[in-house]
Amino acid sequence: MDFLSMWEATANERIDHPALEGEIECDVVIIGGGYSGLSTSYHLQEKNCQTVVLEKGRVGSGASGRNGGEVLTGYLGTMQEWAEKFGIEIAKEMWKLSIEAIDLIENIIDTHNIKCDFTRNGDFYAAYKPSHLEGMKKEQEFMAEKLSYEEITIIEKDALKTELQTDFYYGGRVDKKSAHFHPLNYALGVAEATAERGAKIFENTEAVQVERKNKKVVVHTPNGRVVAEEIVIVTNAYAGDLHQTIKRAVIPVESIMISTEALTEDLMEELIPNNRAVSDSKNLLYYFRRTNDNRMAFGGSGRAASMRGLNRMYEALHMGMLNVFPQLRDAAIDYRWGGKVGFTKEMLPYIGQLEDGTYFAFGYGGHGAAMASMLGKVIAHAILNDGEMNNPLKVEKLKPIPFHSQHAKAVGLIKFYKKFQDIVS
Ligand SMILES: Cc1cc2nc3c(=O)[nH]c(=O)nc-3n(C[C@H](O)[C@H](O)[C@H](O)COP(=O)(O)OP(=O)(O)OC[C@H]3O[C@@H](n4cnc5c(N)ncnc54)[C@H](O)[C@@H]3O)c2cc1C
Repeated sequence: MDFLSMWEATANERIDHPALEGEIECDVVIIGGGYSGLSTSYHLQEKNCQTVVLEKGRVGSGASGRNGGEVLTGYLGTMQEWAEKFGIEIAKEMWKLSIEAIDLIENIIDTHNIKCDFTRNGDFYAAYKPSHLEGMKKEQEFMAEKLSYEEITIIEKDALKTELQTDFYYGGRVDKKSAHFHPLNYALGVAEATAERGAKIFENTEAVQVERKNKKVVVHTPNGRVVAEEIVIVTNAYAGDLHQTIKRAVIPVESIMISTEALTEDLMEELIPNNRAVSDSKNLLYYFRRTNDNRMAFGGSGRAASMRGLNRMYEALHMGMLNVFPQLRDAAIDYRWGGKVGFTKEMLPYIGQLEDGTYFAFGYGGHGAAMASMLGKVIAHAILNDGEMNNPLKVEKLKPIPFHSQHAKAVGLIKFYKKFQDIVS
């Protein structure tokens, strides 16, 4: 057992992209080789706009290659809450965008025949408490009446086993429009597609400084530099010191995953009969799903200051999996890994352009597998239209999060509080 992610271990053969040496010119330089950056590049190249993607590690080595691969509709929170906050018309636009995000991914996969096990069987959101199921029923009514969205079905407790072979939950709801995929293979596929369209991707190439010179942007890397007309920074939860305004507006939160050995198809069909992407309504949520090679991929939150603490986190997650599915008690855990999920203060993704001209998108929470490709496309279209961007998630200014440098401690405290709420509420 090691910290190699199961997705990396089971990935398609990948193209090695070189590290940047020397100077290169392009129209748009993109920092970050995850879904956001690759999609921005892909949609710019479609219009023959020359892009360079700089990736500090390898394509997908941030969250895009390590996530649960749950391609979900919607956002953190309920659409009722967002409608109360922004009004019903904005909520409608937000919802439409979230569905289109998954359609977009499906379309890219079909167009380029990306082998990433894309399965659009919907998702199951499991109710951890009876009151959570009541909330889901209200949301279903709201979605049907106000957003004309009829794809949600409520599963009562006595029918739970049509979705999950467990007694752990009190029913839940299905949304038929969600999907799941092999997250790294999707990222590698989009990288290949944009490279075929002429993009230059440089791996193991960290952008270390951005300079503005004669109306151009110059991005310095350890052994070279890129001179471009426009810059996009999409480093999400992996933002370092490159751009302080962006760094200080994103809250990185760690999430960990484990995966079993490959099991029998019969067992996996029994555990999750409809092969949906599953997550639950616990404050410290679990998310899990079958993989194409019949493993259980199971995730939850986890951050630890020491290796011992980290081992305990993985053990706790394993126990969590066995609480949900005692049937897996003899299944070996082949892989365990983690990564950083980016959040914003509003718990919604941010997209926009800063006063210095930098385009950005980040903070998808646990919904970036769907939304990051879409926001990459929106950035691309904004660049092609002189910065014009009409999007419900657009923000005019990025406000730094107070006490940002203390966020790790704050997140630890919030998690402790949420765990407590899961027990007492
Ligand atoms: C364990 C885990 C499970 C998750 N599960 C789900 C899920 O099931 N469903 C879902 O929707 N979302 C999930 N997420 C979140 C989702 O993965 C992200 O929202 C999404 O991948 C964000 O994509 P991105 O391109 O914006 O960021 P990333 O994929 O993180 O890409 C940012 C990239 O920027 C690079 N970078 C940073 N600084 C520099 C620099 N200076 N120079 C060059 N490169 C740099 C990083 O190396 C990184 O590759 C999960 C995340 C984690 C960690």
